[in-house]
Amino acid sequence: MLRIKNLKKHFGGVKALDGCDFEVGQKTITALIGPNGAGKSTVFNLVSGIMKPESGKIVFDNKDITGLRPVKISNLGISRLFQQTKLFSNLTVKENLLLALDNEDTKFWKNLFGLNKITRKKEGKIKETLKLIGLEKFENILTRDLSYGQKRLIELLRTILNPHKFLMLDEPVAGVTPKLREEIAKVLLKLKQQGETILLIEHDMGFTLGIADEVVVMEKGKVIAQGKPDEIKNNPEVLEAYLGE
Ligand code: ADP
Ligand code: MG
Repeated sequence: MLRIKNLKKHFGGVKALDGCDFEVGQKTITALIGPNGAGKSTVFNLVSGIMKPESGKIVFDNKDITGLRPVKISNLGISRLFQQTKLFSNLTVKENLLLALDNEDTKFWKNLFGLNKITRKKEGKIKETLKLIGLEKFENILTRDLSYGQKRLIELLRTILNPHKFLMLDEPVAGVTPKLREEIAKVLLKLKQQGETILLIEHDMGFTLGIADEVVVMEKGKVIAQGKPDEIKNNPEVLEAYLGE
């Protein structure tokens, strides 16, 4: 589904990516792990088109998407959860989620002609999704009144509701309570069962190794190991990279 080939990106003297290579198979959960500053979020920024690489190639769904604009990449089917929260705190949960479904630029015309039928269908979809994680009672609550973990969960739903073929999640459970972590793990596994392909960055090793099919380990802008969670757990190079942090 996604192929990263020899990607390079530097910021001044810092080589954030120094020849990064890996692949993400269809209908899998792949975890990108590694110490702080390894270059994980930079990979996401390049794949989603927010930044351009100096060299290398990004192939998504057999199309070369290297250097395309973010809107184009998003329209090709890549939906991303950011490391920082980007919800509108003065809107309700439902309103925030409607924004994800209203991505098309036809919104203006729909509002003009009052085509509420479409909105009602979308509201149904939102209710259904909220039910999936037992948060339907939060539908009309302002997101600023939610806990951090609940906000993260709503944001995850927004990423999922955004029409896509491929999900990229940057630290979905950072700062989230153990109970909500479990919820999020369940949601991700359910999504995989439904045929979704997920690439996630996560610091919590327990969480990551519990749900990933494949783990890619980065250090200093390069991939230093790749394999099944069990192989990664016992890889001395990986342990050293983490101990050195
Ligand atoms: P990770 O997500 O693995 O913690 P990042 O990809 O965020 O790592 O960062 C990799 C390196 O690139 C770090 O040294 C970081 O300071 C640097 N870096 C990332 N983004 C920028 C930026 N926009 N400007 C300058 N340096 C950056
Ligand atoms: Mg990061």
